[in-house]
Order: sequence, then structure tokens, then C-alpha cells
Amino acid sequence: VTDRRVACPFCGLVCDDLVASGNGVVDSRGCALGAAGFRRGAVPRRSHAVAGTAVDFATATTAAAVLLKAATAPVFHGLAVDLAGIRALFALAERVGGAVDHLASSALLANAAVARASGWVVATFAEIANRADFILIIGNDPARAFPRFHERLVDNANPLYRAGPPRIAYLGPAEEAPPRVAPSLQADVTRTELLPALAQLGALLHGRRPQSSTEPLRTIASSLAEARYGAIVWTPASFAANEAELAVEQIAAMLRHLNATTRCVGLPLGGSGNGLGAMQASLWQTGWPLRLGFGEGTPRHDPWRFAGDRMLSSDEADALVWATTLVAEAPPATSRPVIALIPDDLVLPSPAAIEIRVGMPGIDHDGEIFRSDTVIALPLQATRPSDRPSVAAAASAILAKLQALP
Ligand code: SF4
Repeated sequence: VTDRRVACPFCGLVCDDLVASGNGVVDSRGCALGAAGFRRGAVPRRSHAVAGTAVDFATATTAAAVLLKAATAPVFHGLAVDLAGIRALFALAERVGGAVDHLASSALLANAAVARASGWVVATFAEIANRADFILIIGNDPARAFPRFHERLVDNANPLYRAGPPRIAYLGPAEEAPPRVAPSLQADVTRTELLPALAQLGALLHGRRPQSSTEPLRTIASSLAEARYGAIVWTPASFAANEAELAVEQIAAMLRHLNATTRCVGLPLGGSGNGLGAMQASLWQTGWPLRLGFGEGTPRHDPWRFAGDRMLSSDEADALVWATTLVAEAPPATSRPVIALIPDDLVLPSPAAIEIRVGMPGIDHDGEIFRSDTVIALPLQATRPSDRPSVAAAASAILAKLQALP
């Protein structure tokens, strides 16, 4: 069997240079997260189950259809699955009038709200890797969630449009700083000081000089203004949930201001677990981003009303369809019956009403997921092909059973 290059679905970088051979990935390019992700496919099989009792796939999907037919306000949540799975779950949610959310949508919605309200200037991975001569990282080291960030975007050995590596600056908690930041370009602030520091940076860019601004912050401001092609990188999840939108708005305002005199782009990192795929599929199928409700005949978008966790904790939802393969995460605790579409390596703290064991895209079957720069949906190849049903196959089977019920 010849080696082949495959893409990795375990963070939003979706690196497409890993090597698979025979029965699995043999070179994950030194990425521990990627290697651990592909090892997830090597666990023993678990049975589909109804009320904790092992059943076959047909029985499990029939039970799921019966449960959903009786539900009046089901919520479809998790959604860390491939694009085909997301689309099949949308079709099922539409049929039963359910609400739809993604486990990472809080952070993504902060970006979407700012983009919708005021617009922004963002870039692709390739533009950052080939053009950026100055990169400001805000909030924490992106390598914590995107392990090969520096290798792929900063240390590009053959950049097309810059002479050497970019200078790196950092604004955020010292203990979460990226490596190799010059002390003069590292503005250490605590998490609670981050929002005021962003306001100070914005003021400095406008030529004002806030008294409390530090020397590194002033150096960062002048470096951004002097850069030929600056970039500001942030991970929405690194901000406190109630501050994320305001923080992103401040960054967007800085980008607008800088682009009056030079070039500076944003790179919002997020969307692991195919969160951006869920957002894109939602947009192209309904015209709205997540969070969605299908209960009123036409799709409705409401980030508060259709928040999956809120609907469950307030008992507004009366059933939960939890689907996740790319992230091994159990559903939120709920007294409502749960239909779990989950891979074999995920052991739930207590049995779900119905457990349907599905395959993982990029391991058991092919698939597609979106990269964090939203530019491209990358194909995933089955690296250990199996007959495990995909999420799309399971959701479609439930929909078919539902349509056949009296
Ligand atoms: S950085 Fe992300 S996409 Fe790349 S190999 Fe590691 S986990 Fe996979």
C-alpha cells in the first residue's frame, strides 16, 4: 500500500500534509493532538443501545424516530461532525421542527455579530503565511488549540511576498503567551485587563496616549502602524463569554483604522469541530447563521432563544439529539431523553436513551470539513475504513423511519 497525504480534522487548521499508509496515519507531522485524534479510531467497538440494552442499527434508528415523533421541542446540538452529517441533521431538524446549535457557536457568534454589524478585514492562512511582516496575537498562544499554528503560518520557510519571518507581538496573560516574543513586544495583562488594554491600544493607534498604557503596548501600536502587512490574530474563546463581542468589535475597529494608511488583516481563529462548517451550512441552507429554530414553519435565527444549553437547562427542550465525532464530548447533563450519535471512544457518564455508534470522518469514512479561515472545505479520506455508519447515514436513516411512521 502506498503512502498517501491526508487531511487532519482535529483542529481548525485542517493540515493536509499528514501521511497515511495501510491501516492508519503513520506520520502526524509531530502534532500530538492530531496523533491522539487518529488513535481514537483504534478503540474497540461498542453496541448501539436503547435504554442501555444493545440493539442493532435498525432498532436504534427506529427508536430514535419514535422518540422524535413524540417530541414537541427537540434540540439538535453538538454538531461537531462533517458537512454531510451537518446537512443530514438539518434535514432531520427541519422535519421535526427542532432547534439547532453547535457546541462552539458562542465564540463563533461573537465574530459573526461584529462582521454583520460593522464589517471587517480578514485574511486566509495563505495570506498570513506569505505576506504578514508583523503579527499581533491577542488573548493566548494559538498553538494551545491549533498546535501547528507557528509552523504553518509564522515559520513559513518560503514566503512569497515577505523578506523574512514576521515579528511577533502579544497582548494577553503572561502565562499563556506564545514563544519567541521579544520583551519589548509583549504586553502582559490579566484576563480581566484584556478589554481595557484593547481600548488603550485603539486609542494609541488614533494618536492618543492613555496614561495607563505600558511601553510594550505603545511599541505594539507603532509597529502595527508601521507594518507593511500587519495581522491581528485572536481566538474568540480566549475572551470571557460576556466580553467576546466587545473585544472583537474593538479589534475590528482597529483593523478599519489601520487600513486607512497601511494593510492590516484579522485572523479570527475558531471553528474547530467544524464549527465554521455548521455556520456555513446554516447560511447556505437557510440564509441564517446558527442558532436556528425550525419550529415555526420557516427557519428562525435567535442566538439566545435557540442556544442549546439554555434550552436544556430551562427545560424548554423536550429531547436532545447530540451528534459529535470530531470532538469527544459528552452531551450536557439533562433530564430530557437523549439520542446520542457518537463514536466508539466516547463513553457517556450515564447511558443515553438511544446511543447510535457512528464512524469518524477522516478515519472510518471520507468527509469534508471547513478550515478556520472559512476559505475552503477540505476533503477527508478514510484512513482506517470501516462499516460504521456516518452521522449522515444515521440521521438519514432516522428521517426515513420517521417518514414511514403512521
Ligand atoms: S495542527 Fe490541527 S489539523 Fe494540524 S495536525 Fe495538528 S490537530 Fe491536526
